[in-house]
Amino acid sequence: MNLHEYQAKEILAKYGIPVPPGRIAYTADEAKQIATEFGDTVVIKAQVHTGGRGKAGGVKLAKTPEEAREKAGQILGLNIKGFITKKVLVAKAVDIAKEYYAGLILDRVTQRVVLMLSKEGGVDIEEVAAERPEAIIKHAIDPHKGLRPFEARELVKRAGMEGNLNKLAQILVQLYHAYEGIDASTAEINPLVVTASGDVVAADAKIVLDDNALYRHPELSRLREEEAEHPLEVEASNYGFAYVKLEGNVGIIGNGAGLVMYTLDLVQRVGGKAANFLDIGGGAKADIVYNALKVVLKDPDVKGVFINIFGGITRADEVAKGVLRAMDEGILTKPVAMRVAGTAEEEAKKLLEGRPIYMYPTSIEAAKAIVAMTGGAQ
Ligand code: GDP
Ligand code: MG
Repeated sequence: MNLHEYQAKEILAKYGIPVPPGRIAYTADEAKQIATEFGDTVVIKAQVHTGGRGKAGGVKLAKTPEEAREKAGQILGLNIKGFITKKVLVAKAVDIAKEYYAGLILDRVTQRVVLMLSKEGGVDIEEVAAERPEAIIKHAIDPHKGLRPFEARELVKRAGMEGNLNKLAQILVQLYHAYEGIDASTAEINPLVVTASGDVVAADAKIVLDDNALYRHPELSRLREEEAEHPLEVEASNYGFAYVKLEGNVGIIGNGAGLVMYTLDLVQRVGGKAANFLDIGGGAKADIVYNALKVVLKDPDVKGVFINIFGGITRADEVAKGVLRAMDEGILTKPVAMRVAGTAEEEAKKLLEGRPIYMYPTSIEAAKAIVAMTGGAQ
């Protein structure tokens, strides 16, 4: 889950990292009001879930409240890489002497959180990374020891940073504490600014949270911005389903992420396209299957549903009951191909007997059938 810059900065501030004071505005007049209160030059920044805002015209300085109103008016509504700007951060501008880069990411190869540092931070960091990777130093952090202050000081020196090295190093340690504390998968400060007066502040921040750890942070999951996701994904997540909207027309329901992935591949292999990924998890009862069908069938792209269940903890007869309920309530009006195997398979087949549901002994047969029923190979 991506956080907005202002949300990321609130978290960093809690961990002791200096950030410029700022507030959110939804209208140009609100931006003017905030600028009046600050009584100083402000920076107006689009709050959208993408980077590169500066280059796209989504970050502008304003010297007067009137200018703040004008600039906010230009940024609100701006389309930045497909994201429409609905709110702006109005922050006290910082007087930049140097722009550095500091980032933490999870490196799955070394199985470590890796700190990346560069004295060439700012809007061109991607080019720096692509053209002169040596300008970015990397350090894998020992998970048992954490990032120790002496290491952070050495790294700051090695990166060639100038200014108050102790302050810079301290911010890295705090950034690591924040990263661990909120179960982030990415935490970046770019630019990490050394101001003309020698202070060090985080002028921009990007945090991505690990969705699988969100349950440990109810206060953070509330930051989920419903409009940033597909509405069906929000609804599915409220039911506790792992659901991803895809581009095809075959609705997919299965138990276990591996089986669902396999089912998507099968549909693709026989020439169809899946409309979604939906995993009902292990041990699903009838009501869960019913809710899963409700979500999948709300998608207007769905022309038919492929239910692929390998009964282990999940009982096939419970799945059948859920399907029948959806059918009896008139929710399920599209063709369904089912493959059920394993626990309570016979009971399930008995329940479904004589109902307009196509049962197949193997996944591949069910995949071929549903693709044929939904318009054939595309
Ligand atoms: P991004 O383009 O989405 O990464 O947005 P940033 O917040 O990083 O802003 C882009 C650039 O705008 C920064 O690299 C700075 O050069 C500039 N900028 C941002 N905030 C300020 C500020 O408070 N004062 C000044 N002078 N420049 C700023
Ligand atoms: Mg930035």
